Order: sequence, then structure tokens, then C-alpha cells
Amino acid sequence: MTTEYTQQQPIGSGFGAKSTAAEVAAGIDLSGKTAVVTGGYSGIGLEATRALVGAGATVIVPARRPEVARQVLDSAGLAGVEVDELDLADLASVAGFAERFLASGRSLDLLINNAGIMAAPLARVGDGWESQFATNHLGHFALANRLWPALVAGHGARVVALSSTGHKRSGIRFDDLEFSEGYDKWLAYGQAKTANSLFAVQLDELGRHQGVRAFAVHPGGIMTPLQRHLPREEMIAAGWMTEDGTVSDRFKSTQQGAATSIWAATSPALEGMGGVYCEDCDIALPTEVGSPEARIHGVDAHAIDRADAARLWTVSAELTGVNAFA
Ligand code: NDP
Repeated sequence: MTTEYTQQQPIGSGFGAKSTAAEVAAGIDLSGKTAVVTGGYSGIGLEATRALVGAGATVIVPARRPEVARQVLDSAGLAGVEVDELDLADLASVAGFAERFLASGRSLDLLINNAGIMAAPLARVGDGWESQFATNHLGHFALANRLWPALVAGHGARVVALSSTGHKRSGIRFDDLEFSEGYDKWLAYGQAKTANSLFAVQLDELGRHQGVRAFAVHPGGIMTPLQRHLPREEMIAAGWMTEDGTVSDRFKSTQQGAATSIWAATSPALEGMGGVYCEDCDIALPTEVGSPEARIHGVDAHAIDRADAARLWTVSAELTGVNAFA
């Protein structure tokens, strides 16, 4: 088992920004494998689910609205996908799902922590936690830790954490994780997406000795229900779309948006690697500070900092009361 740190640099995967999940999964056989995809019935999650099913995996989609998930998956021709209940903003719900999964006796080969919310108005969940940090990070943190025995039993399992280029907007605010004052919806999303990346760094650090590897992924920009909290004028001002609703050609299709998750979850080229941030179906480069691309491409140092990753793990374990490595 390789225990060297993986370099944060591309490996020449042969895939790119325009590759689709189906192209990345072509020729990969996941029969006999079990995957959990949170939010795997909406946006890029639905396409990740479709690609995994296409490769032969058994897929479970835990959803906070199970009836809607069932309906969407059935109409997408994915009636074989199992649906269960999971609200990531509610740790009791996370524990319930994990208990049901573990009780089934199944091992888990792929966990794709895909669900998320973006730029939401200030809301408090759990013990007064800011909702983006709680949903996007703490819920998935608790989920992976609770599913840990099943991941180890997968003998070579991978965990994929959906981060975002939004991580560039904020590091972890260790002195005020919860925005006790001065809430900013974008800083909060940035913090949560940095947390997703640091989670992958530390999970890989702790878990690789038991054969589990973790990756963070920026999927690209994709128009999905994720933008539900954004006023149209804000998207126009950001150059995401024109007045008449034409979406910028910088955006990917949902099939392209799911590709990096599927690549990170399944690519044989990543064998023996982990703890890195990926984009456009390859390991990303560190951000070239000062370059015109710095706001769009690459991973900022604060999202792969090993000391911050370890510190965030400790804090998250204290907040959630869950830690598979305690
Ligand atoms: P969608 O909004 O289409 O899907 C998000 C999913 O997360 C939905 O199924 C949603 O459920 C679910 N979800 C939200 N809150 C909870 C919760 N409390 N418990 C359980 N499930 C929940 O978004 P995308 O497909 O666009 O995004 C997927 C991931 O990719 C996110 O993590 C996002 O941050 C990341 N990403 C997306 C980008 C984009 O441009 N689209 C860019 C960068 C990163 P429900 O249907 O009930 O709301």
C-alpha cells in the first residue's frame, strides 16, 4: 500500500473539461460494487448515479426528500437505484441512515459526498450551526465517519468530497466558524467548500493505512437547482448568463459536471493516490497566484493545508461527536 503523499499536480489523465461521466466510466466494471451518492438525484449527482449504474454498481441515494428522489430516478430510467432518507443538516438523520446501511451488512466501495447548498440566506441548524457549513461539511463528516467500518470492509474504497472553486472565497474561520456576526452567503459557501477539500486531505491521511483513499473535486460550473438562492440579476452581473438567459459557454453540461467525481471515484490511474483536489478530470495544479486564471482554476493553499486539515478534523469531531479514528 502506498503511503507517500500524492503530489498536487496533473497526471495526464487523457480526459478534460469537456469529458462526460459516461466517457470517463467507459470500460470500468463496477459490478459487485456498492456506491452511496448523497443528493444523487439532482443536477450533477443524478448524472454521477447514472454513470455508476451504467458501470454496473449498486447505487444507494440517500435523500432529504425520498419521494421526490424516487420519482426523479424512476423517470430517469434508474428504477434499480435504492433510495433512503438522509437530511445532512440533522445529525440524528445521518446516524439513522448509517445505522440502516451498516445493519444491511454491506461493504461500501464508493462514497460520493455530493449533496450541497450554495449561497443560502443565513439559517441555523443543529447546535446553532451555520447551515452551509453544517450541511455541506459537518453532515458529510459525520456520514463518512459513521460509515467507516463499511468503507474499510470495501478493501480499497474511495471517498469523493464535492468541493468547488468557491473554496477560493474563504479559508476556515477557526475563530468564528458559525458567523456569529457579519454573515456573508459567499464567504460561508467558501468556508464550507474549503472544509470539503480539507476533509478529503485529512480523511486520506487517516484512512489510507486502512486502504481507503479520499479526493476533493471541483466539478466545474453547471446550471442546476444549486443556484436556487441566487437572484437572476446576480448571475447576470457575474457573467454566468446574459439578460436573455443564455448561459455562458464556460459552463458545463450536467454530464460533464459529473465527470470529475466519477473519474476520482473510479479511475485506475489514481491507484495508490489520494488527498488531492481534482478538476477537469485530473489532479489540479496549485493556484498560480496573480495569474488571470487564479480565480477560476487550481487549488488555493488554504484548501489543502495539512495542519488546517488536521485542525478542522478535530473541531468537526468535537462539534458532531463522531470520530472513527478517536
Ligand atoms: P443540486 O442542487 O442540483 O443538488 C444538490 C443535492 O443536495 C440535492 O439533491 C439536494 O436535495 C441535496 N441536499 C441539499 N441539502 C441537503 C440536506 N440537508 N440533506 C440531504 N441532501 C441535501 O446541486 P449540484 O448538482 O449543482 O451540486 C452538487 C455538488 O456540486 C454540491 O456539493 C455543490 O456545492 C458542488 N458544486 C456545484 C457546482 C455547480 O456549478 N453546479 C460548482 C461547484 C461545486 P434537495 O433536492 O432536497 O434540495
